[in-house]
Amino acid sequence: MQRRDFIKISAITGATAALDSCGQPDVQLIRFIPEEDLTPGVATWKPSICTLCPAGCGTLVKVMPGDAEVLRNGRLGIIKMGLAKKIEGNPNHPINEGKLCPRGQAMLQVTYHPDRIKHPLKRTGPRGSGQFQEISWNEAIKELVAKLQELQATKQEGSLAFLTKPLRGQRRELVRRFLAAYGAPPVVEFEFFEYAVLRRANALSFGRPQLPTFDFAQSNYVLCLGADFLGTWNSPVAQSIAYGQMRQGRPGQRGKFVMVEPRVSQTGANADEWIPARPGTEGVLALGLAHVVIDAKLRPAAAAGRAGNLIPGWSEGLRNFVPAEVEKQTGVPSATVVRLAREMVAHPPAVTIVGDAAVAQTNGLRTALAVNALNALLGSVEQPGGILFTPQPKLSQPNRAPEGPSLEGSYPAFSRLVDRILQPMRSGVSSGPLTAGGVARRRAGIGHDTGSGDSRSPRDASAARHAGDAGHPAGNRTSTRRGSEEGPPVENL
Ligand code: SF4
Repeated sequence: MQRRDFIKISAITGATAALDSCGQPDVQLIRFIPEEDLTPGVATWKPSICTLCPAGCGTLVKVMPGDAEVLRNGRLGIIKMGLAKKIEGNPNHPINEGKLCPRGQAMLQVTYHPDRIKHPLKRTGPRGSGQFQEISWNEAIKELVAKLQELQATKQEGSLAFLTKPLRGQRRELVRRFLAAYGAPPVVEFEFFEYAVLRRANALSFGRPQLPTFDFAQSNYVLCLGADFLGTWNSPVAQSIAYGQMRQGRPGQRGKFVMVEPRVSQTGANADEWIPARPGTEGVLALGLAHVVIDAKLRPAAAAGRAGNLIPGWSEGLRNFVPAEVEKQTGVPSATVVRLAREMVAHPPAVTIVGDAAVAQTNGLRTALAVNALNALLGSVEQPGGILFTPQPKLSQPNRAPEGPSLEGSYPAFSRLVDRILQPMRSGVSSGPLTAGGVARRRAGIGHDTGSGDSRSPRDASAARHAGDAGHPAGNRTSTRRGSEEGPPVENL
């Protein structure tokens, strides 16, 4: 794939905000034929997914007919098209069951908010000065391509850094392949909520490199160390629904909830008991609780299995984590440590959650491993009322993206998609249906080659250009701010 093509596709797939609404008075207005399935004044609700956090709640988008300015074949006109007016939760979606969090409710603003960034911005002042100037997509692409060519001419491809939020699906594959073909290091993904640490810990403790699902609805005791699970953490809508079930959905049976954190969060404000602890000592508290359980022979240390074996001193009963020592480090009174441990054992199924700032410390992975071991000790892993892991589909090799540079082979659908996107750009004429996304692309000028583009099909060009790239060392790795999924061995942490 060419650099220019890559940038165009990246811009398209990520540039939903590129449609600006200012008109050009010197261009004749044309009213296109309205879409036939739109009835004036009648709303239709289109199912979709909220993408504002990894939870992926199901949504229904209220679409009404409206007028939109569009460019078609270089001419500005007005077309009646479906415009998103409101977003609600999809009652048939298994994660959120019709509910949405405030972010999901506000998602329309991603498309309509007047302050959203609608054009590429170029820094015009010194770094950090905050001085930027809007430039067109054509200018931005030209500049980027020139920079990439400059790096290539001086053999500095390895100095290119591609920083992004976590990518999924075809966009991730697109970026991975481009960087591998170009000779750059793997993409650097920035994960704001530090979920990478939890995935790593779950991989080490349970062989599941995933975020957990909590079966609160059937829990009788929930101890949370730092995770704002009713506010923003993990899957807050699903967790709020299950939490409500635990507290009020079982007549005569109300689960207890204890929150440990350094400041009162939205979740902490809902707790039966709120306990302050020094930041970064949540793992010490978890091991202190485990010590009490093992020492009092409430549960055998061996019950924690692999998760316990990862913790130094576990099989000896964690003698360094007696309640008095835990109090010294965490600030949680030793009597409270003993009481919490006994309560958890006495009210199964009991589960401990850790997340947010508690695992964003330098000892975050150790903290998460300690909590995993505690949950395993309590028998709360993969059990009703405890931690569950979503079964992952086992992708057979033919369905996975090939590691080689060609867009062909076992990924023909992706290849065809790239062709479909690039063809109108090359010809400057759209052959597909007119969509808001297509309009945005055309208005942004992405549909025109800006210079020394390669006129070959992406497949031909890719195959010819990258024939020797299959063995590139950067081709199959993805790093995150805190390290890759492989990460260092636990003994070195
Ligand atoms: S929890 Fe909120 S932001 Fe996350 S997917 Fe659901 S509605 Fe969207």
